[in-house]
Amino acid sequence: MPEALKRVIDMIHFLPGIGEKTAAKLAFFLMKANSSYVANFARALSDLHSKVHECEQCHAMTDMDEVLCSVCRDDKRDAHLLCVVEDYLDMLSIERTGVYRGRYHVLGGAISPIQGVTPDKLNYQTLFERIAEDVIIDEVILAMNPNIEWEATALYAIERMPRAVKISRLSKWLPHAGSIEYADEITLLSAFRGRG
Ligand SMILES: [Zn+2]
Repeated sequence: MPEALKRVIDMIHFLPGIGEKTAAKLAFFLMKANSSYVANFARALSDLHSKVHECEQCHAMTDMDEVLCSVCRDDKRDAHLLCVVEDYLDMLSIERTGVYRGRYHVLGGAISPIQGVTPDKLNYQTLFERIAEDVIIDEVILAMNPNIEWEATALYAIERMPRAVKISRLSKWLPHAGSIEYADEITLLSAFRGRG
């Protein structure tokens, strides 16, 4: 097999959920594809790291030339509500449904001692500082996926809230063993309406 093709197969195979056979199929597709498509694809991939960074306030992803993400910049969002999510994908899932109009804080994972994810590796520090300083926030919604990691992750936040705010959780409204990423609009809508 040509070295360049093998390298692309290995790269694709490294992606989560992609088996060797699928990787080979995709690499072959790229080899046969229109060269401008492949050039654009390569450019889009390298732009991912050079043109995207974390929002300084909520840790969501935003364009490199913006300090804050579009949600943090939007003054029409409800500044009283702060929704804490595990990762940016969960935030995108909630945003896609349009059921929530407050702001977010992306923790960057869930506490998992087995995988070496300790609280200091997550964005708690900025979360607590934000809540302490931004007194307009009066409700913190812990939008966790219903699993053991998130129990610990939520508890850590609840126990260290820097001031008295209403704390609500979504988990019990999500289907058992479900996750925010895969929840449909109606499920998320009832999860937000019925939070408590
Ligand atoms: Zn932001």
